[in-house]
Formats: sequence, structure tokens, C-alpha cells
Amino acid sequence: MEKLSNPKKTIEVIQKYQFGFQKKFGQNFLIDDHVLTKIMDGANVTKDDFVLEIGPGIGTMTQYLAERARQVLAVEIDKNLLPILAETLAPYDNVEILNDDILKVDINAIAQKYNQGKPIKVVANLPYYITTPIIMGLFESHVPIDNITVMVQKEVADRMQVGPGTKDYGALSLAVQYYAKPCIIANVPPNCFIPRPNVGSAVIRLTRHLDPPVVVKDEALLFKIIRASFNQRRKTLQNGLNNSAELSFTKEQIVDAIESIGLKANIRGEALTLEEFAKLSDVLYQWIQK
Ligand code: SAM
Repeated sequence: MEKLSNPKKTIEVIQKYQFGFQKKFGQNFLIDDHVLTKIMDGANVTKDDFVLEIGPGIGTMTQYLAERARQVLAVEIDKNLLPILAETLAPYDNVEILNDDILKVDINAIAQKYNQGKPIKVVANLPYYITTPIIMGLFESHVPIDNITVMVQKEVADRMQVGPGTKDYGALSLAVQYYAKPCIIANVPPNCFIPRPNVGSAVIRLTRHLDPPVVVKDEALLFKIIRASFNQRRKTLQNGLNNSAELSFTKEQIVDAIESIGLKANIRGEALTLEEFAKLSDVLYQWIQK
């Protein structure tokens, strides 16, 4: 069977089933063999791997994954795609489709069932409207992961990999870099999709750290501090922490903590490295102990 990466085949399938694209599900299907091959190579998918695919659409990327991986589970929310997937994936006996919302699925249970709890690969052309909850959900629920290789909005890929002092640096950069090493694999223009998205895209690989780059006393506190620091971008770090509904330190505790790690009290959050946020978190931790 002709692959769906051939635009003619994708159009033929869509017309045959009179499939109506749903904007609310972020449906932009890939039609570029070169990009798909780059994603497979970037994720380093091999016959040893169990791969979780998020949002298979009509099965374009799933066909590539099925050829390279040992086993693939693809989670798709749109039930209108199920009959199409049954046809386009019929030649492969190592693919299963789960009709569900990825944000409601127990991925730890999936890793246990399909890969005996060993690190899995996650590969996807993500629905852009839920990029951050999907990625943070995977990291925060401590699913055993080797790497996550995903197509995201170009701007979001940039935010994930930059460091302090750049305009894109923020809570997402710090959260991603706490858990993984980001690497942009490819920039992908709108004409590689049907329909064309109105933003540029990029493929990014997030390779899970074996050990976190910083060790803190309280991971949840670290992330509360990071979120508070970027809530009000133009404000100083001390004001961000002081105004956060999630934190209840006094102004004096905050200023003392910032100065105790060698920073000026009027510094902005966007100037701090992950290591500095970790130090700050550990100093402030003394005030939340009972
Ligand atoms: N993988 C296909 C491709 O590359 O051509 C389709 C990618 S498309 C950008 C995103 C897919 O995610 C769509 O098929 C959409 O229906 C699905 N999707 C959207 N929200 C979802 C959710 N919450 N859970 C699972 N799948 C979802």
C-alpha cells in the first residue's frame, strides 16, 4: 500500500471517508516523507522499542513507527478516525489504537503493561493546543521515559531549549531542562501538513536525564518558585515570589534568601539559572517546615 506521507494518498483517504478536520483537536496531518524519516532517526526508534504515539490522526506517522519499532500504542481522541486507522494500519500487526484523551490515560500503567516498566519512547506530531500539559504530565507523573520526540510549534520548541537572559526563557524552559536534555531535530514549514497550520513547527527531542541536573529538598516548592518568578515577567523576583498565591513567605524571608545565594534583591526571575532557582528553593524550604 502507498504510504500516507504521499499527499495524494492522504487526500484520497480523507475523501473516501469524507473526513472533516476538527480544529479543536489540532488536526494537521503530516505529508512529508523526509520529515517523518528525520523524526524516526531523531527518536532513534529501533526494533527493541515500545513507542507511545499521541494523536495518530489517519496513521501517517504510525506507519513509520510500526516499521521501525517492536510495538506501538497510539492514543487518539477523535472516534471518527477509528475506521480510517483500521484501514491504513491493517498491514501492521504490532500496532494498537486506544480511543481516549491522552490527558486522562494512565501512562505509567501503559509502560508497565507494554514494556514491563522499562523506559519507553514517546513520538508524536502533537496537537499544539495541549503541548505543555502533555509534556509536563509525562515528566511530572514520573513515567519511565527514554526520550520524547515531538513536533511542536516552533516558538514552543525555542522556549524549551533556551537559557537565562533570552526573551523566550521561562517556566517551560526550566521545567523541561530539569527533566531532560532538549535538542531541536528539524524546523518544519507549514507546507509539510494538510491542512497547513498558521505557525511554523519544529521537531524537538527531550532525552530524559538519568539523574536530575540539580537536587532539591522539595521538588514541588522549586516549581512553585519558578512559576511565581515568571507570573509577572516585568516584575522583580522578590515581587513575583511575594505576590504568589501558591507561596506564603514574608518579604524579609524572600530578600534574605535571594541575598544569601549571592544575588541582588532587585534581580528579575529571568536572570536566574536552574542551579540558582534550586539554591533559592532550598534556602526558602526552612520556612515551610513544620
Ligand atoms: N500523527 C498525525 C500526523 O502526524 O499526521 C496527526 C497529528 S495531529 C497534529 C494531532 C492529532 O492528535 C489529531 O489526530 C487529533 O485528533 C489528536 N488529538 C487531539 N487531542 C487529543 C487528545 N487529548 N488525546 C489524544 N489525541 C488527541
